[in-house]
Amino acid sequence: MTENSHVEFFDTRGNVSEPYSFTKALVAGLAPGGGLFVPNRIPHFSLEDITALAKLPYHQRAAAVYKAFGINLPDEQIDQLMAQCYGDNFNNEAICPITSLDENTHVLELWHGPTSAFKDMALQCLPRFFSASAQALREEGKLDNSFCILVATSGDTGKAALEGFKGVDGVSIGVLFPDGGVSDIQRKQMVTTTGGNVQVWAVRGNFDDCQTGVKRVFADADFNQRLMSERKVALSSANSINWGRLMPQIVYYISSYSQLVADGKLEAGQLLDVCVPTGNFGNILACWYAKQMGTPIGLLMCASNENRVLTDFINTGTYDISNRPFVLTPSPSMDILVSSNLERQLFELTGRNPEAIAQWMRALNENRCFRIDRATFGKLREGFAAESVSNQDCLNTIKEVFARYGYLMDPHTAVAFAATERLRGENPVLVASTAHWAKFGDNVYRALFDVPAGQPLPADKAALTGCQLNAFIADETGCFYVPENLAMLDEMEARFSEVIDGTTEAIEQATAAFLDSQA
Ligand SMILES: *Cc1c(COP(=O)(O)O)cnc(C)c1O
Repeated sequence: MTENSHVEFFDTRGNVSEPYSFTKALVAGLAPGGGLFVPNRIPHFSLEDITALAKLPYHQRAAAVYKAFGINLPDEQIDQLMAQCYGDNFNNEAICPITSLDENTHVLELWHGPTSAFKDMALQCLPRFFSASAQALREEGKLDNSFCILVATSGDTGKAALEGFKGVDGVSIGVLFPDGGVSDIQRKQMVTTTGGNVQVWAVRGNFDDCQTGVKRVFADADFNQRLMSERKVALSSANSINWGRLMPQIVYYISSYSQLVADGKLEAGQLLDVCVPTGNFGNILACWYAKQMGTPIGLLMCASNENRVLTDFINTGTYDISNRPFVLTPSPSMDILVSSNLERQLFELTGRNPEAIAQWMRALNENRCFRIDRATFGKLREGFAAESVSNQDCLNTIKEVFARYGYLMDPHTAVAFAATERLRGENPVLVASTAHWAKFGDNVYRALFDVPAGQPLPADKAALTGCQLNAFIADETGCFYVPENLAMLDEMEARFSEVIDGTTEAIEQATAAFLDSQA
């Protein structure tokens, strides 16, 4: 690869005629026309390249992957940024260590970052590259504004985004969550965030009200124009369809393979199956890219909770949400109907056919349903298997795994573990673990103490704060620590208490006031 053959981005629906550079695609987020950015080429690593990565610290493994893609930032800058992304902001030197439950079952712990959820793996990385990309574009004279990120959250993403963007140059971030609609732990995590460029609002309404409100603000051309002309600020979303959130996730699958070989748990070249608890399809898609790049990965197992649209899709070839209820589950970060990164996966499986994707996405929009062609379905069946796990099976799995291995899983990981048991073949399996159990202490309590899924906790436990309940569970189970960032929440100062309406006007007014306070 020559110095000046940088990766370029086009889009899944065939609307981008002039390719985007990495920096431009990152700052844009969504491609014009509503499609998703995809790179024009996927680099290849030999087996030796992959196994050699284990000799490097994690941040250098990440830098190696970014350089292989050929992004248009200088190599030294990639090195520096990655050292900041994956350093002592994680509570484990390996960044995402692997715990082996038995010879053939390995758990990839993606939750050692500042918010104890796997979103940190991407959101400690994207903001720094976003800021560097904006700075590079400014120096090229292609940009002269700063950014305000607005995020509507049902819990996990908001806090991970706040931690990722706090203190980042040229960007401020505002997060909206449904008032009374997130757990005690999740709310405290958000409202105790430090840093000058952050703001958190509780919104009267549910998550849908938050999301709809934010979408309307993004779509309000007048407001966006005023922000630009009066404050030189552009709104941006940083959500999981940004290529800059996907790319850091590719790293940990290549890295894990390399690590398992170095640890003598895998023969170099031996196939490793992977099971991923899936919502927006970002995490499992990253694994597919890691496989494309040469990592000896076999089957990709897509694990869903009772929101089983992906299970049905992978088993039938029809994606149908026309008559599908939205179910509340113990694994809320996988409660989803429209799985947005699936679009990229289908684009790749069709052999990069933007016409097919545009047609399917139109059908999804108009009829809430689309059906893929036979050849693409064949490709999907070749690479993927899928299972859906009921709420009660999820809780039973937490209890059984604890009894059998002395290992405590969060409900998302438990969904993946249960799916693995049903789908696994001969190959060793890597199970992606996406949250620390203490983020979902109420359901871990239900699992361990036989409270059925969806039932209230006993009064004495219901009266505890999230931190107190976690301390009780840690005590009872004996050997499990609660990360400091979660254990200390009751003692930290709540900085944000503002409750606003979910109307366009209320969110715009709050955003403007926040930006004024920044000026
Ligand atoms: C976001 C999230 C998921 C789903 O990941 P996708 O990339 O959206 O498929 C699973 N588990 C947890 C804990 C999450 O926060």
